[in-house]
Amino acid sequence: MGMKIDLHMHTAEHSKCCQIPAAEMLRTARDRGLDGVVITDHHYHLTEPERAELEQAVPGICVFRGIEIGICESWGQGPAWEDLVIVSEHPWEGKDPVPSEDPAMLAEYARRTGALTILAHPFRYHRHLAFDLGLYAPDAVELASSNVGPCVFAEVAAMARKYDMKVVADTDAHSLNLVGLYYVELDKPVRTETDLARAIRAGDYCLGFHEPTLQARIDEVRPQEDLARRILAQGGTLENFHAQGGIHGCFFTRVAEGSTYLPDRRIKGLRNPVEPTTQPTDL
Ligand SMILES: [Zn+2]
Ligand SMILES: [Zn+2]
Repeated sequence: MGMKIDLHMHTAEHSKCCQIPAAEMLRTARDRGLDGVVITDHHYHLTEPERAELEQAVPGICVFRGIEIGICESWGQGPAWEDLVIVSEHPWEGKDPVPSEDPAMLAEYARRTGALTILAHPFRYHRHLAFDLGLYAPDAVELASSNVGPCVFAEVAAMARKYDMKVVADTDAHSLNLVGLYYVELDKPVRTETDLARAIRAGDYCLGFHEPTLQARIDEVRPQEDLARRILAQGGTLENFHAQGGIHGCFFTRVAEGSTYLPDRRIKGLRNPVEPTTQPTDL
């Protein structure tokens, strides 16, 4: 049995968009069978004492340090924007957001510290990437996450091959229902962020998910996307969607642009490199 790790998770302590305290997120992750979690709050990297304290508070799960930062096309200007997850024992010292003219700084930081860099939820905000992977390609890219649907599977797999990135599955959990949904299963256990980074760069893992959490996600997303489809077919709008019980606007906009947040079971056991032709089709 390998070591199951979710590389992307938020906590209420340091992410405004998350209401659940770290200890509760970690307990849930452990109870769903994860062996480790990387805490990747927005713009905040845990200190070593904070990390150790959490590990003590929730026995039975390893806590690793990471951070989620932004890359944008030019300083302070949207909407061209990408999120990047960094897994490291060394605090992120660079600019945040990183302007895309300055990816050399990211490369230099990653090389010097051994940090792992992951392009988070590609194509979530727009159909192109906000920075040039030819200038800086992160070590890995999310192929599956609560914010990456199977509709971009082939595109992400092809991009990973072209730029020599690994594909990973992680959750980007902000709430308890999603904790532990996706993970990577390492061939051998690791103890530090640097060893974890090395294992991912070497491709010593396969992709996985927690079946009951995945089924619960399908049960949450499917009726919402079906509702969105019905409303779009009648020429309705986001307001109609909300009026008829639509919860998250993102489900509506996803369907409107022809994509989906429904998870797909066929990522289970995948190893790098992933064939772009193995795109899942029957959801
Ligand atoms: Zn967030
Ligand atoms: Zn995130």
